[in-house]
Amino acid sequence: MNDWNIQSRASVCAACGRPFADRQPLHTLLFDEPPTLRRLDVCQNCWQDQFSDGARQRKGFVSYWQGLFEAPPPPADPIQRETAETLLRKLIEQNDPRHAPAGYILAVMLERKRVLKVKEQIVHDGRRVFIYEQPKTGDIFTITDPELRLDQLEAVQRDVAALLEQGLNPPAPAAVPENQPIAPS
Ligand SMILES: [Zn+2]
Repeated sequence: MNDWNIQSRASVCAACGRPFADRQPLHTLLFDEPPTLRRLDVCQNCWQDQFSDGARQRKGFVSYWQGLFEAPPPPADPIQRETAETLLRKLIEQNDPRHAPAGYILAVMLERKRVLKVKEQIVHDGRRVFIYEQPKTGDIFTITDPELRLDQLEAVQRDVAALLEQGLNPPAPAAVPENQPIAPS
């Protein structure tokens, strides 16, 4: 499984395809489908018809909760300064394993500030995985515990502080593999 990812709340029911209305109840299920946890948002009717009966094991989902659909907020100001949340999103997007410990610390910080809520903790391939929800947007953040040792913590916290202050630098050109064929223009 990927160590981390973000999955947004769907705007339509995954089963019947009807769009969700603002404040409509919806049911979120997570299925363990390597390499990732697949998210499914379904409406009340489809939940009752297709998923609610029977054991979780039989239906194959590893996590489930009920929530409300919230109409998306207007687009954010593009020049807002880096916050712990925007930084975490960028780290996950870049998917650089070197930043995985920083991502984990950011998620913990955001949980303390009540920006993210832990919905579930599961064990996957022997590792602890936290499933967070950003309640305003409904986005799910899947973060694998990097199992930091105490003597690593200080360096990671310094890394996080520097990232928050300076932002995430774009990947250095040196990171591009050598001998990569150049696409014809
Ligand atoms: Zn439906």
